[in-house]
Amino acid sequence: MITNQQLFDRAQKFIPGGVNSPVRAFRSVGGTPRFITRGQGPRVWDVEGKEYIDYVCSWGPLLHGHAHPSVIKAVQAVAERGLSFGAPTALEVEFAEKLNQLMPSLEQVRLTSSGTEATMSAIRLARGFTGRSYIVKFEGCYHGHGDALLVKAGSGALTFGQPDSGGVPAELAAQTLVLEYNHIGQVEELFATQGDRIAAVIVEPVAGNMNMVLPKPGFLSRLRELTTAHGALLIFDEVMTGFRVALGGAQSLFGIHPDLTTLGKVIGGGMPLAAFGGRRDVMQYLAPVGPVYQAGTLSGNPVAVTAGLVNLHLAGENGVYDRLGDMTRAVTEGIVDIARTQGFAMSTCSLGGMFGLYFRETLPSNLTQVMESDKLTFNTFFQGMLEEGVYFAPSAFEAGFVSTVHTSVELDQTLTAAERVLKQMR
Ligand SMILES: *Cc1c(COP(=O)(O)O)cnc(C)c1O
Repeated sequence: MITNQQLFDRAQKFIPGGVNSPVRAFRSVGGTPRFITRGQGPRVWDVEGKEYIDYVCSWGPLLHGHAHPSVIKAVQAVAERGLSFGAPTALEVEFAEKLNQLMPSLEQVRLTSSGTEATMSAIRLARGFTGRSYIVKFEGCYHGHGDALLVKAGSGALTFGQPDSGGVPAELAAQTLVLEYNHIGQVEELFATQGDRIAAVIVEPVAGNMNMVLPKPGFLSRLRELTTAHGALLIFDEVMTGFRVALGGAQSLFGIHPDLTTLGKVIGGGMPLAAFGGRRDVMQYLAPVGPVYQAGTLSGNPVAVTAGLVNLHLAGENGVYDRLGDMTRAVTEGIVDIARTQGFAMSTCSLGGMFGLYFRETLPSNLTQVMESDKLTFNTFFQGMLEEGVYFAPSAFEAGFVSTVHTSVELDQTLTAAERVLKQMR
């Protein structure tokens, strides 16, 4: 039998770090990444045959778990008719209509193959529409790896951004201004002096790439007011939250109508599918009707769109998000109760099927506070749970996910494991 370690050794010869996306490499927690052979419902199996309850769900896309029979059946049927045509299909039309129906701010939508493409395109569109250059983002929010968005705060709040990755020119990073999440005072101050130079504010309405951070009451609505007042666009990056926290995304929960929205992850249900869309007058700036160029050989791929349609159909069934929210709360609050009984400082938040778990007394509201959580204790907990067959994201700074097919069986097994692990850690 081949082991995870043998595969990881082989992988590192021909793939940088042995992985095709960095966090999969387990660098934050240490140890060997699990090479997965199969997933079914809420569980996955690695090459050594070990079974895990999965709370990563492919980093969010698998709202209905692994290999959902309805999704697989539809994907197989459409694949038999051809994988890609580079010409329009009826499926894309149906999908665009479906997105508009579920998320009414998407008056028009364009499909891409990854969330990165969606955010990158939305930024170019916002700049093209407004004729302005500056982009405002918030520390700890991740918007894919486009150059304009791989930017960190300069020294001191309202300074120009600096590259957060090798290969991003400083001149480009300087066009992105990075503020503290949930700090509306900084946004007001920036708009007061630079308001007429800002093309867009891009924000994760619920931050899901610094563990999970909820927006403070009024934060998002004030962003809406300020952008409107200054003629800048408000972009909600719902690549993670879209159809994950609620059927209409975070924007439906908070009652905010962004100008543009980016989607990914759940809308493809595990296939490479993402989207950006919003106001018709803005979307009309896109080629071929407008001057902003954007394209993709595989955009709107029929197999991916079919998976997306079935996933959204399943998501729209009665009571799905109520049950999902109940299950997510039961798992996370159950773990926190056990931890506190064992003397650990722990806190949790969740919305729909997305959750944050912190080794920290109270919930954080920005990146600095997230970084104050106890990473070493998380790492010990993570390794213990993995040994017990429970697969959390391999980093203290990632959100977790529950699917609609997780049941009380997984709940009980997870809590039993957490009790054993946390007792041993004392
Ligand atoms: C995952 C993610 C992206 C990037 O999507 P990819 O498909 O990985 O390129 C962008 N924004 C947010 C909020 C995400 O969670």
